[in-house]
Amino acid sequence: MSKEVWSGPILDNHFHLNPNGRNIEAAKDFAKVGGTDLVLVHCPNFSNLPKTKKEYQLSYESTIEQAQKVRDEVNLGMRVILGPHPAAFAHQCIEWKESEGEAGVQKAMELYRQSIDLAIDFIEEGMAHGLGEIGRPHWEVDEDILQYCNGLLEETLHIAAKKNITVQLHVEGDEKAPYSQIGKMADRAGLSKKNMVRHFAPANVSDELTGGMVPSVILQKGCIETLVASMSECSRGFLLETDYMDDLRRPGAVMGPKTVPKRTQTLFSMGVDEEILYRTHFDLPNELYGPPL
Ligand SMILES: [Zn+2]
Repeated sequence: MSKEVWSGPILDNHFHLNPNGRNIEAAKDFAKVGGTDLVLVHCPNFSNLPKTKKEYQLSYESTIEQAQKVRDEVNLGMRVILGPHPAAFAHQCIEWKESEGEAGVQKAMELYRQSIDLAIDFIEEGMAHGLGEIGRPHWEVDEDILQYCNGLLEETLHIAAKKNITVQLHVEGDEKAPYSQIGKMADRAGLSKKNMVRHFAPANVSDELTGGMVPSVILQKGCIETLVASMSECSRGFLLETDYMDDLRRPGAVMGPKTVPKRTQTLFSMGVDEEILYRTHFDLPNELYGPPL
């Protein structure tokens, strides 16, 4: 008897490609094991961060071009997420504050706002599907930097609410605090938590923890059991991701591009309902981002 396999859609909700990494080969690996859709998230070049609006525009354009290349050459459904990475803002703010004081802080905030406006232009032109990854640093920063990040994030959530745009959040590792604290910000901003995706989310997807935000579960070792145990308490659904970094200097330091397809097969073989898998890989992404390009 042949083993049953899942032959439906398979989407990785948080994937990076690096022009100097494996690039198209990584996308091919994903497709080879059944992957059908990628959510390509903009990642700045951390060794040479964009310092002007123009540089942001160029780096967003390069992400959009990369998505197009994968679409053309590998035939995957592609969605693009653009925005100022919180680590980029934090690094820049710290650096410019040291060199220019308060004026440097203002300059970093202004660049952040410009990069949000630019991302929204691309989304409104139909070339991108959401804002992200935005949020706050995952490491400990000085209180003033954290305050700036929180202030800018709340501002951005207001804009996302007005424009009805989905956001992908990058936050610190704590299981509960980001859901509850950023959930409160969203309430103040009038943004529905249904339009908020927590990237790198812990495996517990129960509404009680998430408060209705959409968890994009990072498929780390041992997460499957927790995910399966909590999925019946997740009313809106969840997504799966690898946060694939495509960094040749750190092979094996991150999850490979085949992980979401493989874990999806694991879930299927464990008896997870087809309906749940369709929701994760097809219906929920459509609701959040619209159809792929
Ligand atoms: Zn990322």
